[in-house]
Amino acid sequence: MNGDVRREWFEKDYYQVLGVPKNASGAEIKKSYRKLAQQFHPDANPGNKEAEERFKEISAAYDVLGDADKRKQYDQVRDMATSGFGAGGFPGGFPGGGGGWPGGVRYETFDVGNLGDLFGGLFGSRQGAARPARGDDLETEVSVSFDEAMRGGTVPVRIQGPAPCQACHGSGAEPGTSPATCPQCGGAGQVATNQGLFSMAQTCPRCRGSGRVVEHPCKACKGTGSVRTTRRFSVRIPAGVKDGARIRLGGRGEPGPAGAAPGDLYVRVGVGRHPLFGRKGNDLTLDVPVTFAEAALGANVQVPTLNGAVTLKVPSGTPSGKTFRIRGKGAPKRGGFGDLLVTVRVEVPQKLSRDEKDLLQKLQLAQKDSPRKRLGVEA
Ligand SMILES: [Zn+2]
Ligand SMILES: [Zn+2]
Repeated sequence: MNGDVRREWFEKDYYQVLGVPKNASGAEIKKSYRKLAQQFHPDANPGNKEAEERFKEISAAYDVLGDADKRKQYDQVRDMATSGFGAGGFPGGFPGGGGGWPGGVRYETFDVGNLGDLFGGLFGSRQGAARPARGDDLETEVSVSFDEAMRGGTVPVRIQGPAPCQACHGSGAEPGTSPATCPQCGGAGQVATNQGLFSMAQTCPRCRGSGRVVEHPCKACKGTGSVRTTRRFSVRIPAGVKDGARIRLGGRGEPGPAGAAPGDLYVRVGVGRHPLFGRKGNDLTLDVPVTFAEAALGANVQVPTLNGAVTLKVPSGTPSGKTFRIRGKGAPKRGGFGDLLVTVRVEVPQKLSRDEKDLLQKLQLAQKDSPRKRLGVEA
């Protein structure tokens, strides 16, 4: 589908020139061309300038309509030209051409190389119509312990599957040779398709979007640029990584077609549980049991953190379930640490010594008001 797209395509109706309907078959076009060519051939019309011009026109028309691929391109260009753009002028000027079209008089040949470029440039649809060629992304998982997640570090990752060929560095071309520009798309990686005005660019089937084709395939990978193998990477886990986080390793995915850019590798991190600490974002959580006496009278209690114990001052009259925030003792985060959220739980003894029992009975007698007074059922 490469070749020159001539400006006269927008101007000249080749079907009219050959006197055939737009849906004429290849055979009909050929038949009509032969008849006209005989009629206006310079040999049959010596010295007749008009006939000579006509003959040239007929030849030019058949050059396009007689070739199925060129005819398809021509039809697309014509559709575009007659759908309003041609008459009103192309928005933003004409790619690749000298200025002044369509009002100007300079009718030069403009070589846009491929129609994908032409249409993409005109309608800005190139990105949306076809994805740029690139290898697929891969995803894998690693598991780390809670402590490893807090510390951060590197963990080994193993990937099995397509990888860039070592012999040709993923180009697919035998070492010493290099891939050639794709003849079908002229290296653009896209070709025009006939699906109406606004969805015309399509990934080139010949080069699968890479814009290049391999003429001397690499023997190690049979020209694919990729081989199935096991790759090992070290993945850096940032300190404080959260469970389910995805770490992207750019360019470590599957190789692209014919040496195009590889995809990315995503490593999903599974973080194990800790016997004591929980997690809320960058904060760590911890339940700390206290006795009724400590909660009622107040106490200094020792609380574990990621880096050693700290003293938490529990004030007198602390209710069970109250949470205290210890700043900077949480999970590592960018530029610092989260907090440790300590929730105090008043623990009820399951077994009592005789002394404890005596003292609690004394306490019970000393407490005049029932805590259920406000429920209105006890005095
Ligand atoms: Zn290779
Ligand atoms: Zn191509």
